[in-house]
Amino acid sequence: MNDASMKEPKEIDKIRAAVLSWYDAERRELPWRSAPGHDADPYAVWMSEIMLQQTTVATVKAYFEAFMVKWPTVSDLASADLDDVLVAWQGLGYYARARNLLKCARTVADTHAGAFPDTVDALLKLPGVGPYTASAVAAIAYNRPTVPVDGNIERVVSRLFNIRTPLPGAKPEIQTCASLFADSERPGDFAQAVMDMGATICVPKNPKCMLCPVQEYCDGRKMGDPSVLPVKAPKKVRPERRAAMFWLENANGAVLLRRRAESGLLGGMMEFPSTDWREGDWPDSEECESAEPISTEWICLPDEAVHVFTHFKFRIQVFVGKTDRIENTDGIWVQPQDFPNYALPTVMKKVVRHVVTHRE
Ligand code: SF4
Repeated sequence: MNDASMKEPKEIDKIRAAVLSWYDAERRELPWRSAPGHDADPYAVWMSEIMLQQTTVATVKAYFEAFMVKWPTVSDLASADLDDVLVAWQGLGYYARARNLLKCARTVADTHAGAFPDTVDALLKLPGVGPYTASAVAAIAYNRPTVPVDGNIERVVSRLFNIRTPLPGAKPEIQTCASLFADSERPGDFAQAVMDMGATICVPKNPKCMLCPVQEYCDGRKMGDPSVLPVKAPKKVRPERRAAMFWLENANGAVLLRRRAESGLLGGMMEFPSTDWREGDWPDSEECESAEPISTEWICLPDEAVHVFTHFKFRIQVFVGKTDRIENTDGIWVQPQDFPNYALPTVMKKVVRHVVTHRE
């Protein structure tokens, strides 16, 4: 920890009190939050935290409510089919989270009699639960003295303590500083309070310091422009992958879909047949030929469909073909109007739009 991030215990107490009294007056109403004075539902807390990873609160609200209507308890979710969960998850992205959501629900139902464990260590053993989620569930649902560090808390803490080390290297220092608050009697409220501060006051650009309950203790503000914090290491150039993808229609207008392997990117989701998704040049004609689902006349559509994943940009050349044969193909035939009933990830929906826009 650098000198700038040192704070006296008394000052920590004052910050904690100021944050909590601000929260009591200004807390956001969110569908997964319990009313003041009521215990939080661990299932709701866990569900919301999994959904909120890499997704905004505004987007998550509708998904959360739909999941809770469809699967009101962890036991209901544990009994669900993976396909139903993947379809309900469509649009939230990062589908490994949906698969782990189901695995975790089944573990809680089978191994923990339907009750989420109440310690960070035990929560960490659940599928898809990392240090942040374990800490969030332990603090919010069980009032365990821990501070989960998400992007909002990372920003508030790095400004409050004026942490100048670039991310991601600053993470241990931020975690150490955040942990100074963890012995509060209200760790769940404290965590949610700082999340709310980060979402509404200590926003990435132009933080509203004049409205901030801890402005007098904020070292980042005292040092000048806190909006430069947290410092981020320069972004790496995102690599590109390319593939040829095949939209094959039969005489009934149904289109061939196949299921991706269970593990790995978009595992278990549906897709159109394609060559390997790989870096480097476009697949050559030999590669395309060996990936075609059937030998027919393929028409290459103009332009490319493009989708940006976290770790790479994906460029797709789309080929359209027709066949009278419906046998000797791996996959299933689906009418385009029935696509919403299948777990098609966003990248495949872009391919659908590309075909609709570009075919004659
Ligand atoms: Fe963030 Fe400003 Fe509050 Fe500091 S004073 S925590 S920079 S909003």
